[in-house]
Amino acid sequence: MIKNNYHTHTKYCNHATGEMEDYIKVAIDNNFEELGFSDHMPVPDELLEDEKYKSLIYLGKPYKDRMETEDVERYISELNVLKNKYSNQIKIFIGFECEYSEKIANIVKNLNSISDYLILGMHHFYVGDEIYNTYSSTDMTNERVIQYANECAKALDTGLFKYIAHPDLFMFNYMKNNGRLFTIECEIATRIIVEAAIKNNVYLELNVHEIEYSEKEGINPWRYPRKEFWDIVSEYKEAKVVIGMDAHKPEKLVNENYYKILNLANNCDIKLEESIGL
Ligand SMILES: [Zn+2]
Ligand SMILES: [Zn+2]
Repeated sequence: MIKNNYHTHTKYCNHATGEMEDYIKVAIDNNFEELGFSDHMPVPDELLEDEKYKSLIYLGKPYKDRMETEDVERYISELNVLKNKYSNQIKIFIGFECEYSEKIANIVKNLNSISDYLILGMHHFYVGDEIYNTYSSTDMTNERVIQYANECAKALDTGLFKYIAHPDLFMFNYMKNNGRLFTIECEIATRIIVEAAIKNNVYLELNVHEIEYSEKEGINPWRYPRKEFWDIVSEYKEAKVVIGMDAHKPEKLVNENYYKILNLANNCDIKLEESIGL
């Protein structure tokens, strides 16, 4: 049974629902020992007016469906109150799921200094001044898949991140019209990300959240996690892997898709870590 989860969203990101206290109650009812909140970092002011940034769409919503900058303090202070209130029942950690590029490095560093941990969740990335969307099948060419991995590696090399969410996100719509092939570029990208995670002592996440949507839409294999990716991870005995619920509603902290991920980990011979050592 799941004991800890470090990938949890809240109403502050404007696309998840439920009170933070409700997530904590579900976790306590299910005998969790640790619960980490990792809401999406705000869209930095300097990007709000950027036309390319504004045109990014993910899952039908604009990227600006993120925490407001002025909510960061509120998010942290509310969680601190809850941390104390429930301190004898569960350990609460305060984190953020962050994008990363050199353009926003200072903001990410600041978030790191005021939180317990950061998750790298690269949903888009820059190559020079161009911005690319991992959800777009046309953006994610063979070349771009490798560039994505290199940008993730650069982010992990900053030492700011403890955990990388959905490290196989780059295949979300890659080759979607071509049988969702796992190409040599996917293998190269996988190795770049896994080796950077090992080098920087970063946990790789097997993500539960996406399964529901892939299955609803009849997408096989799931957009992520992808077995081919995790088969490669299993070659690296030093790789650290955790399951992340990526819950966007309190009741999703516990759901049967967790067991599908356990099966996948077993099939790929992946040893799972229970905690990320905060
Ligand atoms: Zn994410
Ligand atoms: Zn997330």
